[in-house]
Amino acid sequence: MTEQAKGSIERISGPLVVVTGLEGASMHELVRIGPQKLYGEIIEIKAGHYSVQVYEETDGLTPGDVVEPVRMPLSVELGPGLMAGIYDGVQRPLDKLAAQTGEFILRGAEAKALDRDKRWSFQATRKPGDHVVAGDIIGTVQETQLVEHRIMVPVGVSGELTHVESGECTVEETVAVVKTDTGEVQLSMIQHWPVRTSRPVRKRLRPHTPLVTGQRILDMLFPLTKGGTACVPGPFGSGKTVVQHQLAKWADADIIVYVGCGERGNEMADVLLEFPELIDPRSGRPLVERTVLVANTSNMPVAAREASIFTGITMAEYFRDMGYDVALMADSTSRWAEAMREMSGRLGEMPGEEGYPAYLSSRMAGFYERAGNAYVLGSDDDRRGSVSVIGAVSPPGGDLSEPVVQATLRVVRVFWGLDDRLASQRHFPAINWLNSYSLYQDVLDGHCNENVSPDWKKNRVEAMALLQRESELEEIVRLVGMDALSVSDRLILQSSRMIREDFLHQNAFDPVDTYTSLPKQFHMLDLIITFHHEARKVLEGDGVDFDELLKLPVLERIARAKLIDEHDIDLGAEFAKLKEELVSQVSGVGGKHEQPAEEEESPSAATGKKE
Ligand code: ADP
Repeated sequence: MTEQAKGSIERISGPLVVVTGLEGASMHELVRIGPQKLYGEIIEIKAGHYSVQVYEETDGLTPGDVVEPVRMPLSVELGPGLMAGIYDGVQRPLDKLAAQTGEFILRGAEAKALDRDKRWSFQATRKPGDHVVAGDIIGTVQETQLVEHRIMVPVGVSGELTHVESGECTVEETVAVVKTDTGEVQLSMIQHWPVRTSRPVRKRLRPHTPLVTGQRILDMLFPLTKGGTACVPGPFGSGKTVVQHQLAKWADADIIVYVGCGERGNEMADVLLEFPELIDPRSGRPLVERTVLVANTSNMPVAAREASIFTGITMAEYFRDMGYDVALMADSTSRWAEAMREMSGRLGEMPGEEGYPAYLSSRMAGFYERAGNAYVLGSDDDRRGSVSVIGAVSPPGGDLSEPVVQATLRVVRVFWGLDDRLASQRHFPAINWLNSYSLYQDVLDGHCNENVSPDWKKNRVEAMALLQRESELEEIVRLVGMDALSVSDRLILQSSRMIREDFLHQNAFDPVDTYTSLPKQFHMLDLIITFHHEARKVLEGDGVDFDELLKLPVLERIARAKLIDEHDIDLGAEFAKLKEELVSQVSGVGGKHEQPAEEEESPSAATGKKE
């Protein structure tokens, strides 16, 4: 091999180092800098000057220090051993580094992402003589109890399998040999992939099935698809962590990739301490058995933050390629954008809005566009996988008009607006139903109408309309008082209060309430909508006392429907019984008042539990 040109440092500015003498190196190539061989990536080339963002603190570097090219782009290692891993932004395993160098990870410390000594039991699923193409699964490894790791033919390789054999082996040992047009290729269980290039798929599909989360406000009002994109702003204390944990635990994704991006050190420490404690509710096993964590510790500088998002999504794509549904959570993309801003400033680029680089939007789009639902590479016609991306944003002062939120909203299709005010009223999940939205609603309505109930969409639309009407009526009440409201308006307030308190409010810490299946969600909301219709009928009749409706015992049963344990019961029958009771009690109120009675309205009663 020819000796590569080594460069030397000309100038240092925080995490940015300008190098000369690296002729032949290209954009996004990795380099090792100085005596400690710190990792860096070339991010700008200008007339013999190479700007390098350094993934570690640059203290102690001096002009003239040697910079060696690595001749490869920033890449991730992919193979068995990723699960339960905790990596930094450039995929160094934090636990192994800590074991090597102590809690304060030394600069330039090196450890391979995948354990080279561990032996895995490889089970071949193909036989010699088979023709294979990129993406084909040639064998499996039971990586954890929850995840079967599927070993795939790497991109760019196809031909006849001349050898493949089950057995115990390390990630680097040859498990198969493929005879290609250009010669024999030995396949091990390890692959490398550059993080800034998305892994190819055979055919992109429109996202069309819901990523069921069991969280009623999300699934019913603002649903996400498998392969979809969502954004959630996270004002402090608004329940962002709980939302993320709920998604990690309950979303019907096979694999979770969590990218903790440059949050304050102690917040990141919370994530690292809390995640390993979470239990996968479906299997009872630790959730980390199907989770990969990418975390920037507080001693990692901005450049690693910038990289961590790409490291995370590349791993997510790899599991998608196996045919899995993957959910990636990035927290927080605002810190990521701030890292971009800092690097851009140091490069002396022309600043855009609020100092963010002009390419903020396109960089954001480039990340979110890697989400998707697709037929993955390989010769199986129907192997499908997806990457759903949920990005948290933390706008300063909760200001949704700032550039990072705006750039995000232009590309994501779901917005879950966490709201301080709701959190302070202890309404959880504190997602504001008035400013949140999902652009997947139409496709998912079709899916749910077909698979859950033909009334799914109708009920959802009506619930949403009631909530919107409620906010208008509240305004009127504030201005002119309750007396100004007609009985039908009072009913709207009552029904929407039931939607909020009995349906949307969901306690993540209650063993039953924490997860609600789509059929149960439908039945719960259907009860409230039925109440609304039946009550309207009797109120339109002959002068029924509104307050009598509020006293019906069935209302308490509706409020407690969230606690009906779905296991081992006939859900349909249980709710049909409740609905029957509801209809009979409400019409009973109407029946009692067949003779027109004096209409007496008590403003305090009309507000029910709300005041
Ligand atoms: P953040 O991460 O935004 O600072 P957390 O997620 O830690 O906020 O939530 C703060 C507190 O709010 C939690 O400790 C919990 O008491 C309460 N909380 C949030 N979401 C829920 C929920 N879905 N159910 C019950 N309590 C919740």
